[in-house]
Amino acid sequence: MSNDILVIGSMNMDLVVQTPRAPKKGETIMGNKFSQIPGGKGANQALAAGKLGGEVNFIGCCGQDAFGDELLESLKTGGVNIDDVLRVEGSSGVANITIEDDGDNRIIVVAGANSKVTPEVIESFKAKIKAAKILLLQLEIPLESVSKAIEFANKYDTTVILDPAPAVKLPEELYSMIDYLLPNEGELDLLLEDYEVNTLQKKIELLLDLGVKRILLTQGGDGVTLYSKGKEESYAALKVEVVDTTAAGDSFAGAFAYGLQRGFDEAEAIRYANSVAALAVTKLGAQSSLPTKEEVDKFQK
Ligand code: ATP
Repeated sequence: MSNDILVIGSMNMDLVVQTPRAPKKGETIMGNKFSQIPGGKGANQALAAGKLGGEVNFIGCCGQDAFGDELLESLKTGGVNIDDVLRVEGSSGVANITIEDDGDNRIIVVAGANSKVTPEVIESFKAKIKAAKILLLQLEIPLESVSKAIEFANKYDTTVILDPAPAVKLPEELYSMIDYLLPNEGELDLLLEDYEVNTLQKKIELLLDLGVKRILLTQGGDGVTLYSKGKEESYAALKVEVVDTTAAGDSFAGAFAYGLQRGFDEAEAIRYANSVAALAVTKLGAQSSLPTKEEVDKFQK
């Protein structure tokens, strides 16, 4: 087994509009600024770990368009290995993002090339899943592909970290194959929509009963709580001036995977990820906001 983090997931060009407020239905308003920033949950998480110095391989699909060129270039700047990215017909994934003056964001993703990360593609890369130390996944590629990747990882004893975003109901048998599930509170509700559980405690207990080994519930400015059977530990968020929370969760997930790859214990990896995510919310955009190892070291002093 190698020491790599394998990220299988999406890559999107983020088309970002900054605006005083979101328009109401049928309304047109003037925004402040437009920016085009590489993103996509998979690529963000891969780059987050790569910029920290992690050994990261990325598997995904982008179009043969200019967005695709830019998305690949961005991953390369963080040292992410992109040899296994497939360039497919049709447009790259895009995300339409509105950021309001108070820092809140609204996001619509169009999958484009990300929908071509099929179960067959996953099958063709099973040796890479076997070789990896950590498999990091999100839900912006087809769910059947995520399931297949998790099944392979489970068979080969590769650690599985799943950020269940954007949340959909998961096949129940998948839960017992997940080492770390990283939902926020909204995603937790959506995952468990079909179950009769109405308190946070009951939702966590249910997921642990279904076999999830550890849950890292991210709670924005309130930090993060780690749950496992009989254990609950909260970690406060660090105090920073928030500019844009896009990719807070992605930077946390990538940094947490990096921490585990480096051999940090769980508490250390969570504290490190908290620092990385705090820095990420002080800057605009997804990949443009991800800090380097040097920036994190300076922030932690
Ligand atoms: P997103 O979907 O916007 O990427 P998310 O909802 O998945 O994010 P959050 O729970 O908002 O994730 O945030 C993830 C982590 O980022 C938090 O656990 C915390 O470490 C950090 N974070 C988020 N917001 C803040 C904040 N206001 N101040 C400091 N740290 C923050």
